[in-house]
Amino acid sequence: MVSRKELFARCRDLIAQRDEETADFDTNCILQDLLGDRNPMFAPQLPVPDDKAQEILSLAQRRSEGYPLQYLLGQWEFWGCNFKIGEGVLIPRPDTETLVEQVLDICRREKMTTPKIADLCSGSGCIAAALKKELPNADICAVELSDKALPYLRQNMELNGCDVNIIHGDVLDSSIAEQLIELDILVSNPPYLTAQDMRELQTEVQHEPATALFGGEDGLDFYRAMTKLWKSSIKSGGFIAYEFGMGQHDAVKAILEENGFTDVELRRDGGGIIRTAAAVKALSR
Ligand code: GLN
Repeated sequence: MVSRKELFARCRDLIAQRDEETADFDTNCILQDLLGDRNPMFAPQLPVPDDKAQEILSLAQRRSEGYPLQYLLGQWEFWGCNFKIGEGVLIPRPDTETLVEQVLDICRREKMTTPKIADLCSGSGCIAAALKKELPNADICAVELSDKALPYLRQNMELNGCDVNIIHGDVLDSSIAEQLIELDILVSNPPYLTAQDMRELQTEVQHEPATALFGGEDGLDFYRAMTKLWKSSIKSGGFIAYEFGMGQHDAVKAILEENGFTDVELRRDGGGIIRTAAAVKALSR
């Protein structure tokens, strides 16, 4: 049997062949998960049974081939909550917490305690769940098209104790937009990568569902179509909030304004990139 210390070193070396910078972190996450111990290196001399060591090494091997750590673990944290994830569902990213913060700031400022919110292209449900955690009296609906993502979305709401309505359907289907009316806030992190981005995807991201990533030639298809289709579902004086990719802020702002939204507020994510926009649906329209 190998010791935890020896096993750590072997995993670390495997992963470091691909990415020196994340090797310690990734190894620690894999050991934590597979050994069921929050602090696996607290007792480095503890022996690891052979079958367990093999299992851990095979995960490190897959990680070293560029398979996402988050899928290997089958869960990832967002907004302090745990989300089950796997192939077919987009991995929650810290950038998206900026969108949650922006929506929460709007609710605080506007003193909305029971807002009606729709989260479009919900994926794992991380946005909807984070909002429900912070606004327990909000009426939240999550819309998701993918058959593969849907079971994760359902499971994540249950695991996190979030009473969120789930609609299995296409956000570009007008019958769904007609079903969800009088919204206080529409929020979405739609697919926004460009055709060029898709050709240059990092190996890890290639394992994520293209349907959750690709937003058409210029990455803006969903902003154009969703804004136009859903604007009548939002109350006058209600809000729309989007996440988008680096450099897309001017285009998204223009789409919002063309559709009768005003007071566009842009926000930067933790990495300093302008990542989100929120705007008000003009009262007169
Ligand atoms: N943030 C993701 C990425 O950069 C893209 C997610 C999306 O298109 N909404 O890979």
